[in-house]
Amino acid sequence: MKIAIIAHDGKKAEMVQFLLDYKSTLNQAELIATGTTGSHVEKAGLKVTKLLSGPLGGDAQIAALAAEKKVDLVIFFRDPLDKHPHEPDVQMLLRICDVHNIPLATNPATAKLILNQ
Ligand code: PGA
Repeated sequence: MKIAIIAHDGKKAEMVQFLLDYKSTLNQAELIATGTTGSHVEKAGLKVTKLLSGPLGGDAQIAALAAEKKVDLVIFFRDPLDKHPHEPDVQMLLRICDVHNIPLATNPATAKLILNQ
């Protein structure tokens, strides 16, 4: 299972807690992440392939993988209370996941429900 992880800055602390809570499950998956998120994933002790930082195209890279069905699950802890210079990329990723029926969790509660399956 290949899982893409992205967290906006305002959600990175929650994302790290989520990683620690689900470390044994996530250890069995192949993880990819946007740049800064990926650094946090590494610090949490998990192996991850880091792509570009979100504002520099990382979300777009994950969207491209999703369009080719090369990702099985996208966990994207979005911060709806902040502005993002790469909002068009964010919207594209959400759209591409829906176009290709890729499971997409946009908050920790949903991600937990999925990983508890
Ligand atoms: P980052 O990008 O992991 O490089 O911070 C995440 C984002 O803002 O999309």
